[in-house]
Formats: sequence, structure tokens, C-alpha cells
Amino acid sequence: MTQASSPRTPVSPRNPVVVNTQGRTWAEVKPARKSVIPEGLWLRCPGCGQMIYRKQMEANLHVCPECSHHFRIGAKERVKQLSDPGSFEEMFGNLLSTDPLGFADMKPYPVRLRAEQEKTGCSDAVLAGAAFIKGRPAMLCCLDLTFMMGSMGSVVGETVTRSIEGAMERNLPLVVVSCSGGARMQESGLSLMQMAKTSAALGRFGDAGGLFISVLTDPTTGGVTASFAMLGDVIFAEPRALIGFAGPRVIQQTIRQELPDGFQRSEYLKTSGMVDRVVHRGQLRSEIARVIDYTGK
Ligand SMILES: [Zn+2]
Repeated sequence: MTQASSPRTPVSPRNPVVVNTQGRTWAEVKPARKSVIPEGLWLRCPGCGQMIYRKQMEANLHVCPECSHHFRIGAKERVKQLSDPGSFEEMFGNLLSTDPLGFADMKPYPVRLRAEQEKTGCSDAVLAGAAFIKGRPAMLCCLDLTFMMGSMGSVVGETVTRSIEGAMERNLPLVVVSCSGGARMQESGLSLMQMAKTSAALGRFGDAGGLFISVLTDPTTGGVTASFAMLGDVIFAEPRALIGFAGPRVIQQTIRQELPDGFQRSEYLKTSGMVDRVVHRGQLRSEIARVIDYTGK
């Protein structure tokens, strides 16, 4: 505190003590917490409203033990859950976003990026590499919701594309786990170009006979849904995940009709054929391994 070193106001009966010997004021003094329970030990499940023990939920793959609500997880946790222990080798982690548009919203884009990097310890909203899934080698690419809502800018698009090309070169099946708010607003048109780039790379991968398993998790929206996420040879979705392009309110206002129950959720998309299978997180590894075996990849 720089204030502490400034000369003190002389104390007089008309001017009582406002600064104590430590240079602190009463505004800075917070009452001691009465609760002895460490913060965040319990949490309320948004699915069933029950108070659940956080450690138990985390040990259960971040799924509510009462109602199977699937909590959102970051890319590191996703990689840990899907790959065999110690088998994941990160790739393309050296890509960094620049700010070619000089974009500033509430704060300049480079400042926002740096803050997100410090918060998450990741360079951008994706984690990709080669891994073994139940002993089957594969390219694994996971979007990270904790970094700017998993939005797809140039780095995410380029990492997904390099993963596709890497899978093609090494003749490996490709697994992409999507969770994203869509294209990254701060990179504008450059974000939208990633949709075309990833889709074109997947086209070449498909022509070469590659297997692409797309896993949709809560939420998969916007430009990610409108490009690689929906181009899987097999598309899995986690239960009750929000999957869509535009939000339900926008759609309702546009078509001026009541939307059906469960609209844009995994189970609803399965009935219309947009999703092949709704898979519980606990079965995801087995299901991916099973598809790899079926296709002989
Ligand atoms: Zn629950």
C-alpha cells in the first residue's frame, strides 16, 4: 500500500483516528468467517436440485450420482477421461492467436487472450494430440469450454485441421469432442473461415477413407455445429446436451411457433437423425473403441 508511507494526518479531538498504525481502514477489515466448512465442498446439482458432495461427483466423471446430470468439463479433464493413462501426447500446442483486426470490445483482444491464458494455463480453447483409447491409437482433439467459451478462432480451427491432417497421414481414427459457443467474435471473418477450412479437410479425410467420430457435449452451438461437429461419420452426444446453431429464442421469434419440449437437446436430435447415439459419459470410451473396432481402423 502506497498510502501507508504518506505522512499521517495529525490526530486531534476534532479529527479522530481514521488510519490505524497498520495503515488500514475499517473498510478493508472483513469479519472472520463463522463457517468451518471449506468452500465448494458441496454443490447444488442443476439437474435435480439436490446438494451433492463435490468429490463424489468428480470421482463419478463429473456426473451427478443422483440424477446423471452431466456437468461441463474442460479439455484437460476430458482428455484424462478418454485416453489411457499416460498415453496422451499433446500436439500443435505452440499455436497462438494474433490480433490482425485490432479488435477491442470491453477490452482489447490481446489483453482478453492473455487473461484467459493465465486463468486456464492453456494457450487457446483446444487440446489436441495422439492418444490411446482403450488400447486403440487415435487422434484426439477436445475443445475447451473454460477458455472463452470454447469459441473457434484461427488457433482452434488450425488445430482441428492439423489434427485431421495428422490422422490422415498416420492413418488413425479421429475423435473430436466439441463444446463451444461458436465462432470467436473477436476474430470476425477469420473465425468464419475456419468453418470452411475444417470442413474441406474433413472432406479430404473422408475421401481417403478416414474414420471421424464426433462427440457433441453441452453446449455445441454456432459455427462449430455448422462445420466439423456435424460432419462425423458417427456422431455421439452426451445426455441432455444443448446442440444447435442459433438459440431457441431466436428461432422462436423467427418462425413464430412454439418450440417442442426438449428442443435442441441430444435426445431430440437423435429422434430427427442428427445424432446417432446418446451416450452416457461413463460409456463414452467403450463406445468409441467399439466403433473403431467395427470399422476396422
Ligand atoms: Zn443431480
